[in-house]
Amino acid sequence: MERTGVAESLVIIGSGPAGLTAALYAARARLLPLMLEGRQPGGQLTITTEVENFPGFPEGIQGPELMEKMRKQCERFGTRLLAEEALEVDLKGRPFRVRSDKESYRANSIIIASGASAKMLGLASERRFMGKGVSACATCDGFFFRDQVVTVVGGGDTAMEEALFLTKFASQVVLVHRRDQLRASKIMQDRVLRNPKIRVRWNAVVEEVLGDARKGVTGVRLRDTKAGSTSEMATDGVFVAIGHQPNTEVFKGQVEMDEKGYIRVVKGTETSVPGVFAAGDVQDPRYRQAITAAGSGCMAAMDAGRFLEEMEGA
Ligand code: NDP
Repeated sequence: MERTGVAESLVIIGSGPAGLTAALYAARARLLPLMLEGRQPGGQLTITTEVENFPGFPEGIQGPELMEKMRKQCERFGTRLLAEEALEVDLKGRPFRVRSDKESYRANSIIIASGASAKMLGLASERRFMGKGVSACATCDGFFFRDQVVTVVGGGDTAMEEALFLTKFASQVVLVHRRDQLRASKIMQDRVLRNPKIRVRWNAVVEEVLGDARKGVTGVRLRDTKAGSTSEMATDGVFVAIGHQPNTEVFKGQVEMDEKGYIRVVKGTETSVPGVFAAGDVQDPRYRQAITAAGSGCMAAMDAGRFLEEMEGA
């Protein structure tokens, strides 16, 4: 079904810190933004635990609580939040078209804030045991591994965070990293390396997840990246924490992207299509922080506001 009548001024796709901040600014500028919240309302912060680095919360705040606060704040100024996912867009001419799982919309401007998702290793066995011992979210699934041995794959901040969180439940956490040096920030590295429950298996990659239908995951086969040799290691769970990829499938062929699929922005948040702006992780492989996402959401709303004003004046 298509909504007839005048096109929306602004449709925001995505509801993480970037989308919600864009909505807050746009709503306060009386742009009556309409937000399609997407598959994971609130975005990646809803599956994290404590956020310690968002300014204004000296004691830290839980990710889901922070997102709930942002949501309330932008609703207060009149954002229309819809539990819908954008499935198809047509950005070839204005008004742009966006089809969700429920409706079709026309919009004079769009802010893409669809974020990024966890990358997986790409093994058939990983897919087979997904949700049955393999996970990409310790906050979601850590609880199931009480007094068990779990493996975390990765050497960045996400892997550190996952490993530390899992020590609350697991009897032991083995961090498997493909090099002999971690990529994570020093403070997170220190916490991990000091934690008696965490052991690091350096220079190793998971080549296969082992298990059976009855017991789920029972181990992993590791390949030593230096020696080339393989070995099996018993584990009850595997948490993959090797980075993220942008959620840009829907926008392929419509807007310019880099080779990894991140949306290219120029001059603030402008994309290759005038009237379409991008904010947050979907256009940022570099910083990927809640605060930088929120900042670029603010910029996108201001850019969209300016664009709409110029469009009206034209
Ligand atoms: P990163 O890209 O920083 O790290 C990914 C890690 O996974 C790297 O150690 C990488 O190894 C490893 N890796 C990648 N692909 C594979 C593979 N196929 N097999 C095995 N290992 C692989 O991603 P993160 O998600 O950890 O962090 C992204 C950004 O978000 C960073 O800027 C980080 O600082 C930030 N962040 C900050 C947090 C905080 O401050 N609390 C929490 C979480 C994230 P290699 O090192 O060899 O490349």
